[in-house]
Amino acid sequence: MQSQTTPQTQIKNSYKVAVIGAGAAGLVAARELRHEGHQVVVFERNNRIGGTWVYDPATDSDPLSVDPSRTIVHSSLYDSLRTNLPREVMGFRDYPFVAKDGEQRDPRRFPGHREVLHYLEDFTSEFKLSELIRYETEVIHVELLKEEEETGNWVVRSRRKDRNVEDYEVYNVVVVCNGHYTVPRVAEFPGSDVWPGEQIHSHNYRVPDPFAKKVVVLIGSSHSAYDISREIARRAIEVHVASRSDTSKTPTRQHGFNNLWLHSMIMQVTSAHQDGSVVFEDGSLVHADVILHCTGYMYDFPFLETSKSVTVDDNRVGPLYKHIFPHQLAPSLSFIGLPWKVGPFPLYELQSKWMARILSGQSSLPSQENMISDVQALYSRFEAAGVPKRYAHNIWDYQLEYYYWLAAQCGVPPPEEWRIKMFEATGINKVVRPETYRDEWEDQNLISEAHKDFLQYMP
Ligand code: FAD
Repeated sequence: MQSQTTPQTQIKNSYKVAVIGAGAAGLVAARELRHEGHQVVVFERNNRIGGTWVYDPATDSDPLSVDPSRTIVHSSLYDSLRTNLPREVMGFRDYPFVAKDGEQRDPRRFPGHREVLHYLEDFTSEFKLSELIRYETEVIHVELLKEEEETGNWVVRSRRKDRNVEDYEVYNVVVVCNGHYTVPRVAEFPGSDVWPGEQIHSHNYRVPDPFAKKVVVLIGSSHSAYDISREIARRAIEVHVASRSDTSKTPTRQHGFNNLWLHSMIMQVTSAHQDGSVVFEDGSLVHADVILHCTGYMYDFPFLETSKSVTVDDNRVGPLYKHIFPHQLAPSLSFIGLPWKVGPFPLYELQSKWMARILSGQSSLPSQENMISDVQALYSRFEAAGVPKRYAHNIWDYQLEYYYWLAAQCGVPPPEEWRIKMFEATGINKVVRPETYRDEWEDQNLISEAHKDFLQYMP
């Protein structure tokens, strides 16, 4: 495929495409690619689909996940996890995530993680995606072919679990869908290396039992930090949450708990010490047994060699046009699923539709110059606002705009009114009922509207 230099045409093309990963992103990418007439192979190193949603009671061999030689577990789910989005907005747009009957099924609106895996399995079976997937096959290396006549194609080297030999194949296109919730970001603070207690990352948190009768410092303020701190507080002596978003001068006891405290961050002026103490920015000091880092994850593409056309700089993957295409390698290389603070599945669906249409010639990309200036404009906007590079794929502020833009490129309807309103209503409900938002809500009218809308997709 001569994609780097050849301008897009409206001629319908069909390519041999390697999709890396069979999580939500890889599955919907595979479906859209096949729909556009491409030949698709999905590489999945696990023995089943689902990625993040395949709960694994095992954890990395290093609890903080910093040892490069550690054994790595892909999923970061904890046992009690329920979705933080209602199922109506969480599912793919044209394959609604509706409650199903069955012994194993969880009909709740914010179901447990096993229900999400069932949903992805239903999706896989509905669209006969399993036949495209090579299970237990890890992609080891991806690189542009150097041979003159094959310029623009990719070598994909992979290894099957049951075999020692590597397979070497050539593909026209590579779509990266390897997920970004596996390699932890660890908090840095003075004294972290001499502090004698146990430190773990939430990637390796599964159940609260190991924290019984302990004093725990938890760093972070994400959804996971919120849920895990409350779960642990029911077993631990005390839990002290250090949050960057908290600016209060004194620790605040959390409503409904007598042992759960919110502090301002552990930062430069405060620290952890050899005697086991941890000092917070608010000046308070606790002697803790465990520091739990709920501090997020890093993008990582250990298999990908692009001669620096794509780099990860302070967790910004780029330069990528619309968070998907590297301008120098588009459209033969793309990334589905990078944006965060989004409604993931419907977004991956639209990203995949657009990517697949670009490949087949149904939609076109601007020139390389225009793509890079679009990326530079985004970077400049962030820089001017003092936003660190690592927030480059946090599209919270312009999620809707991005969604509308992709829908227009694909010629599909924009997000439904009920979906936008439900997303907003859920956000408000989380603030109003932080402990019970998954079981109490006031947007019943929107649920009815969603279900009316879903009828068009139901058999
Ligand atoms: P993944 O699901 O991680 O899939 C990537 C796949 O790639 C995996 O199967 C992996 O085995 C495979 N892979 C990786 N490298 C290779 C390789 N070299 N070769 C072959 N295969 C490879 N989203 C929601 O919508 N609602 C929620 O409530 C929600 N809660 C979450 C809670 C937690 C704790 C976390 C971590 C995430 C949550 N998310 C939630 C986000 C969730 O991760 C996304 O919804 C989505 O599942 C990500 O899909 P993905 O396909 O991008 O990545």
